[in-house]
Amino acid sequence: MSTTERPRILVVGGGYVGLYAARRILKKMRYGEATVTVVDPRSYMTYQPFLPEAAAGSISPRHVVVPLRRVLPKAEVLTGRVTTIDQDRKVATIAPLVGEAYELPFDYLVIAMGAVSRTFPIPGLAEQGIGMKGIEEAIGLRNHVLEQLDKADSTTDEDVRRKALTFVFVGGGFAGAETIGEVEDMARDASKYYNNVSREDMRFILVDAADKILPEVGPKLGQYGKEHLEGRGVEVYLSTSMDSCVDGHVVLKNGLEVDSSTIVWTAGVKPNPVLSRFGLPLGPRGHVDTRTTLQVQGADYIWAAGDNAQVPDLVGRKAGNENAWCPPNAQHALRQARVLGDNVISGMRGFPQKEYSHANKGAVAGLGLHKGVAMIVMGKMKIKVKGRLAWYMHRGYHGLAMPTWNRKIRVFADWTLAVFLKREVVSLGAMETPREEFYEAAKPAPAPAVAAKTEEKAKAS
Ligand SMILES: Cc1cc2nc3c(=O)[nH]c(=O)nc-3n(C[C@H](O)[C@H](O)[C@H](O)COP(=O)(O)OP(=O)(O)OC[C@H]3O[C@@H](n4cnc5c(N)ncnc54)[C@H](O)[C@@H]3O)c2cc1C
Repeated sequence: MSTTERPRILVVGGGYVGLYAARRILKKMRYGEATVTVVDPRSYMTYQPFLPEAAAGSISPRHVVVPLRRVLPKAEVLTGRVTTIDQDRKVATIAPLVGEAYELPFDYLVIAMGAVSRTFPIPGLAEQGIGMKGIEEAIGLRNHVLEQLDKADSTTDEDVRRKALTFVFVGGGFAGAETIGEVEDMARDASKYYNNVSREDMRFILVDAADKILPEVGPKLGQYGKEHLEGRGVEVYLSTSMDSCVDGHVVLKNGLEVDSSTIVWTAGVKPNPVLSRFGLPLGPRGHVDTRTTLQVQGADYIWAAGDNAQVPDLVGRKAGNENAWCPPNAQHALRQARVLGDNVISGMRGFPQKEYSHANKGAVAGLGLHKGVAMIVMGKMKIKVKGRLAWYMHRGYHGLAMPTWNRKIRVFADWTLAVFLKREVVSLGAMETPREEFYEAAKPAPAPAVAAKTEEKAKAS
């Protein structure tokens, strides 16, 4: 990393907020005014709203991520985790991918570490659950689901088959509803290529503790989303939760018990727990407490935004709700990042700070190919759209919101190719253990005595 005399702006996290804030700062900065350092354990930003489509194979996983070093050529990008912040000395401790942790001094700090899956101590969840926060999980889920079809197609054991073909999704917000919609669509498509598996053999179950799904698009469209999924054979259980899932035996509070090899956990997110080590003021749910200028309460040189921050919602407050906070979504993250970037530049130059204010523009959700729901806010009007038009709106909005033209073009190309070439339905499960086959071939042969013993043991069992 550079050790120049310039002030350092340290951006913790290269996700939505980190990437856009760093770009904005670099754009507005004078040559040599500061060093912008972005630290993230991944070398890429993930466009999370496309994870369900990546899991379903509608978009290539590589096109859903943006390489940080390529889009931030003027920044210093470090691959590692920020583990602590010492505010008195203004240094951050970085744990790099390999090697010893080290300290990095900074003058200005941006906290953009996002959220992590919110889980509960449910027996079996840690061992069986699959999250949906990163591209690795989306790729893993896709391979896993297709592998279940392979297993079911080639086994004669009815219990194994039933377990492989039962898919449980816990959490019916954006992430859960979109993922089950996309994955069900993919599995339905894929089953056409199997002799012994049809859609009727599969069981898709969506569970939510709330009494509705897709709260982001409002109750009417949420109800439509539920009925739409049910129409496709998805069992939706509301106002219930999962009590346990030990060894894949799922027990729901409403009494339902099923065996499932696929338990996807999308029951909400919570701010990154590492924040508690930074000595920053936190809100009741662990978010960094910011002012309307996105500056952290009590610290003029630290800004925070996105899923890890509680940012006052000025529009909601003006409308009379004194406790309105911006919801954690991409719409706010993007806009907050821009204001944050401007405010960092102003802060560095001693100029006044801008307040963040944004009126909700609505929400769009895709539920599989040609299926979706959308709610568009125009002044006091809320326009609700469903079906194919909503799906086009979902694709149009997110396709254009995807950072960089390079990625936008690749995503649109994926969609266009899929129209002509059909969806890719191959499972690459072996990707998770790529060295296994080579190891088997290359491992040293055991000494004759050991080999004889192993043979004896094998015979005995
Ligand atoms: C499956 C899914 C679907 C979604 N769909 C929608 C949608 O349709 N519409 C919508 O508006 N929103 C959607 N969202 C929410 C939206 O993606 C988030 O609100 C947005 O990404 C928040 O941006 P962020 O920068 O705060 O966090 P993130 O984009 O998550 O970035 C946080 C970054 O911090 C990094 N980090 C973590 N720990 C450390 C550390 N110790 N040190 C350094 N870096 C660290 C992470 O690696 C990550 O890159 C969806 C989310 C998911 C998971």
